[in-house]
Amino acid sequence: MEKIYLDHASAMSVDPRVLEFAKQYLKEDFGNPSSLHSVGLTAKRAIEDARKKVAELINAENETCILITGGATESNNLAIKGTALRNIGKGKKVAASAIEHISVLNPMKELQKSGFELTIIPVDSTGLVESEKLNDILTKDTTLTSIMYANNEIGTIEPIKKISEIVHKKGLYLHVDATAAAGRIPIDVQNEGIDLLTLSSNDMYGPQGAGALYIKPGIKLQSILPGGGQERGLRSGTENLFAVAGMGEAARIAKDEMEQEKKRLEEIRDKLISEILKIDKSYLTGHPTQRLPHHASFRFSGIEGESILLNMDMIYNIQVSTGSACSSKTLEPSHVLLAIGLKHEEAHGSMVLTLGRANKVEQVPMITKAVKETVERLRKLSPL
Ligand code: PMP
Repeated sequence: MEKIYLDHASAMSVDPRVLEFAKQYLKEDFGNPSSLHSVGLTAKRAIEDARKKVAELINAENETCILITGGATESNNLAIKGTALRNIGKGKKVAASAIEHISVLNPMKELQKSGFELTIIPVDSTGLVESEKLNDILTKDTTLTSIMYANNEIGTIEPIKKISEIVHKKGLYLHVDATAAAGRIPIDVQNEGIDLLTLSSNDMYGPQGAGALYIKPGIKLQSILPGGGQERGLRSGTENLFAVAGMGEAARIAKDEMEQEKKRLEEIRDKLISEILKIDKSYLTGHPTQRLPHHASFRFSGIEGESILLNMDMIYNIQVSTGSACSSKTLEPSHVLLAIGLKHEEAHGSMVLTLGRANKVEQVPMITKAVKETVERLRKLSPL
């Protein structure tokens, strides 16, 4: 049976063009970018080339605004702790939306333990940040507010430009976790008024183990990883040359192909949504229109997301998700689904489909048939 992989929010393959481009940095051009000899200089040039390509993807002022990290979790930690700690003289308040990824919420909670005041900003039933509440919550000593560009579990895209206006009127800096959105939809950090932005290589078909943090010129951060002083002293450690070069090439390809790929995926997404919603007692989670082009998320009453996932995988060879791969080891319902107002039992019946370059519109009938049969089968077995 043909494998249909629909869990691109958790992991994706490296684009063969990226692999072809970056493999030289595992073989002949393997140098340490800090070495002064020619092999080191070649490696340094590869890092700078990647920085430039990432800067172009998000329209950063220039490549020096891009800090290379080991991934989205690290970028989020550096953005949050680094900014809050360095700007402690300006205030000890931080804020985040209720649907942020745990790699944003957990560093925020750590700050809270060390004396910062943390405010959680609510979202409405579609996952949009409630801007009036945001406006009421922020004060001039809120040094950092973190709102994601788009949510990985429900696909909702936040109105970042509007949010940034509120943050800059009332608070200080806006950090945006764009892990789920970068490479998928256009992002313009200058036009949208973003101060710090996280993105990740593997979420754009680049290798695992690289990420980036955009830092607007003039913003000061404290290092959270001291050592040899790489990356302006903010992120020490020898660079993961292969992954970083791959991330750059992945960013370039994503930018080049974005318009066309976005349209192609939206068509598949919309067909999936309209077919799957024909199933009795099935509901879309997240925003009906302001959503990521590759993202379709649902809940079904009376059954468990984990059973859906296992049935889809074992019987149909279709890989889906129930929410965040990072927290799916716990049996707790997703904090994102609870934040949009679902009850515990409703939140347990979730299924998330995230599309990628290999998915085709011809797969829609197979996927919807599998979902329909799975839901019917599980409902027959369910004591609920
Ligand atoms: N933020 C978001 C929105 C995510 O979806 C993820 C997971 N892909 C992360 C942060 C953390 O990414 P990683 O585990 O690759 O560091």
